[in-house]
Amino acid sequence: MEYENRFRQAHRQKYDCLLFDLDDTLYPLSCGIAKACGQNIKDYMVEKLGIERNIIDDMSNHLYKNYGTTMAGLRAIGYDFDYDEYHSFVHGKLPYENLKPDPVLRNLLLSLPYRKLIFTNADKVHAVKALNKLGLEDCFEGIICFETLNPIHKNTVSDDDEDDIDFVGSRRTNHTTSTSASNLQIFDIIGHFAQSNPTQALPKTPIICKPSEFAIELALKIANLDPQRTLFFEDSARNIQAGKRVGLDTVLVGKSQRIKGADYALESIHNLREAVPELWESELKSEVAYPSNLAVETSVTA
Ligand SMILES: [Mg+2]
Repeated sequence: MEYENRFRQAHRQKYDCLLFDLDDTLYPLSCGIAKACGQNIKDYMVEKLGIERNIIDDMSNHLYKNYGTTMAGLRAIGYDFDYDEYHSFVHGKLPYENLKPDPVLRNLLLSLPYRKLIFTNADKVHAVKALNKLGLEDCFEGIICFETLNPIHKNTVSDDDEDDIDFVGSRRTNHTTSTSASNLQIFDIIGHFAQSNPTQALPKTPIICKPSEFAIELALKIANLDPQRTLFFEDSARNIQAGKRVGLDTVLVGKSQRIKGADYALESIHNLREAVPELWESELKSEVAYPSNLAVETSVTA
């Protein structure tokens, strides 16, 4: 029994869970989804929020850079809008036809004996649609998405709110407080960064999203994950670095060169077996070793 316990200790897998970003991680940037999404966000800012088109590029750069998503930045500087409407506008016209079923990735994922979760800043409709297009909809235990970290309540009294933080099939409510931008005080973020020495602090956003460490910690808590035993896959360097700061092991996807904060780097998620073979090895050793002749196996593989 003692041998067995020691063996289990020695061969315990390094990870309990693989946590995957979705966009530009499970499919390549070259699919054009991100580019189209960026354009739709800019169109939303002009058409729905009445922002002048000539400042859109500058403004969205500042917002994305400082708040993680343009949406989070828009809320921070004073715009209010219906979140579902925003998401359906920016995702509604995406070229989803560019996402094709990926049986190679599907087989890779299904061969990995770990909990597997999606963690995306996007909304659930987009995440489910993209996963379906990729043929990966049943490869994950759950999806941690915008609504998971930003549960939204109806203004009217709701029947119950208790499962608002469920990450699997997070229940939706409607954001009903749409406010006209013209009544709002908007923080001038372009003017702020035009100053050589901005003294005023940037306003805070009510939206929780990567790369905030709080967002990552909240996601881990909701999914009951130990950061030390979770491997985090991301295409975004700043999300990788935030993940590292909260204690995750990290895989940068889409680049072959590692950056600060990345434990591994993969040009494509398809290279996972070559780049991180230990994800399969520990399972293989356990299968070979259990349950016979533990002492011998321990000496060979310890
Ligand atoms: Mg991404």
